[in-house]
Amino acid sequence: MFRKILIANRGEIACRIIRTARRMGVATVAVYSDADAGALHVGMADEAVHIGPSQVGESYLRDDRIIAAAINTRAEAIHPGYGFLSENPDFVDQVTAAGLVFIGPSAASIRAMGLKDAAKRLMERAGVPVVPGYHGEAQELVLLATKAREIGYPVLIKARAGGGGKGMRKVELADDFAEALSSARREAKAAFGDDRVLVEKYVDRPRHIECQVFGDNFGNAVHLFERDCSAQRRHQKVIEEAPAPGMSEAMRAAVTQAAVTAAKAIRYSGAGTIEFIADASEGLRPDRFWFMEMNTRLQVEHPVTEMVTGLDLVEWQLRVAAGEKLPKTQDEITQSGHAFEARIYAEDAARGFLPATGKLHHLRFPATGPALRVETGVREGDTISPFYDPMIAKLVVHGPDRAAALDALSSALESTEIAGSVTNIAFLSALARDPDFAAGDVDTALIARKLDTLTTTPAPSPEIVSAAMIAAAGLDTLPQDDDPWSSLAGYTHFHPIERRVGIGFGDERIAADVSVADWRATIAAFPVEGNGEASAGAQPDVSSVMLRTVPPSTAETLRTARWPGHVTVFSDGASFDFVLPDPFAEAAKAEAAVGSMRAPMPGLVKIVRAAKGDAVTKGQPLLVLEAMKMEHTIAALHDGVVAEIVAEGAQIAEGTVLVTFEEAVAP
Ligand code: ADP
Repeated sequence: MFRKILIANRGEIACRIIRTARRMGVATVAVYSDADAGALHVGMADEAVHIGPSQVGESYLRDDRIIAAAINTRAEAIHPGYGFLSENPDFVDQVTAAGLVFIGPSAASIRAMGLKDAAKRLMERAGVPVVPGYHGEAQELVLLATKAREIGYPVLIKARAGGGGKGMRKVELADDFAEALSSARREAKAAFGDDRVLVEKYVDRPRHIECQVFGDNFGNAVHLFERDCSAQRRHQKVIEEAPAPGMSEAMRAAVTQAAVTAAKAIRYSGAGTIEFIADASEGLRPDRFWFMEMNTRLQVEHPVTEMVTGLDLVEWQLRVAAGEKLPKTQDEITQSGHAFEARIYAEDAARGFLPATGKLHHLRFPATGPALRVETGVREGDTISPFYDPMIAKLVVHGPDRAAALDALSSALESTEIAGSVTNIAFLSALARDPDFAAGDVDTALIARKLDTLTTTPAPSPEIVSAAMIAAAGLDTLPQDDDPWSSLAGYTHFHPIERRVGIGFGDERIAADVSVADWRATIAAFPVEGNGEASAGAQPDVSSVMLRTVPPSTAETLRTARWPGHVTVFSDGASFDFVLPDPFAEAAKAEAAVGSMRAPMPGLVKIVRAAKGDAVTKGQPLLVLEAMKMEHTIAALHDGVVAEIVAEGAQIAEGTVLVTFEEAVAP
């Protein structure tokens, strides 16, 4: 076994690899960028090497600096994690040339599977079922459109170098093909520097079923059963599970056998995943699944396989890379129970899943154990920066069966508290409780079909507003028992404590008189300067007098966190962010509110579709912003005539005015 390895990654996956290495007695070297100088993975590793500025191109993708760091620290091998350099065959060549071991497959295996079109041709020859489509070299619009017609609509355009759902477009109608092709190409060019695409049949009622495989350098290959990753949003996995619901033994045998055949076809060594797409329009059937692609690395969702098999995939990776045989034979690998993984991201589900940044002022995870893992790379006080993937944590649960595991997932999500950055926890909770998802009736379009329900944020109840008021008044630390000395939060002996508190929720401002006597808080709340109409739906019902006692009977479900300028209330898997008003900020906002649109996040203005003087209508796309490697269309919030619009190619900060309108039209 290696004495020391370097981990060419960051965040939760770096931390996860370090944990296994430590258990195996292998020393670890972390690498880090400027932004990560104080990151968790740096603190956890035995040694850490600074490799450059925050931008990934200057740090985590700098193969030369990473290899130098390994040589200088006398590490013997490099674990690439996922993303970054993990599927870059040139990096593998350089690592090997430097006399180091790459903990992963050979460069040849990665090359064979690296481009979706070539991989499909290879799999076809190996006898693995492949989605019908065009995987050829020629790329002219006319030819691709003809192929699309032959395949039959709907079709899917995919970047051949694709990954993470980028450069992928579903096309329903021939008329839309040209437009979809150019936008897929643009995204593919930006993300991968390669704009070539393939076109394939869009599978009906698609289920994403993937099979974990493992090979060693002695020609052995086994599978570790399947995972189902059909809960997706825009082709990105949201919740993953194992085993796949509704999977018959016949189907499982066919899928796992095809996967092992695929791995053997390229003499695969290490951890890999063969992704299949299945047509579930009539349930899962052994003759209705097709190879999509192979991921030649450890996957984000590998922990669900670990939960059901009881195996440590990182340990297997280290053993195989160190030249050992696979730790188990196929017969010795079994699975039991059911596991789910949910990915918690800093993103605003209610605003089209805009990626968010921010300091994690408050961060609480449920207690971990054999049936619950929290995989994270951040601690309270850390910042989600715009430089990297905004994933905050993965919650991984195990239960004796699917229903029990899903319950465990819901409660794990409910007891997670994050304040400081907006997160997708409420969305994940809603999905975990969705009746179709619970019934295992999930295809890749389930989330899109139910998007409105899954992303609607409920208005805060009077209890939630009261809890926010009490916290804003600093009275939430009142004693939970009758001992006045257990808290110093404003004890008065003869008079009740009375405080007037003002807080904001969305556009609404609310004030209340909070009084505390005999360890009971009484709240009389009333809206102030309310512009109720503009904020309909988000308007808390505060016109009536509310009573709330402290300690509250709802203490179990209502938890609050105070952080600079805010109070967040956690309730039932959702969180409600109340603002403690700052009069200066309010004035600045009011001035700019009407008649202009601001950038919701930092990014690059990729395309501008309107010009000064254009009359535009509500919902019309005005520009495309590229941020966090994705394209976001910014549409007009209301009708109007464009007075000013940003220039194409501009790099802009969050809050920059993108468009102003000639006449301030009420939204
Ligand atoms: P990427 O490498 O960008 O993640 P994949 O080829 O793995 O792209 O596909 C991502 C997702 O897109 C799949 O999980 C599936 O939901 C959907 N998808 C891919 N191919 C098809 C298809 N032919 N029909 C329907 N959906 C598909």
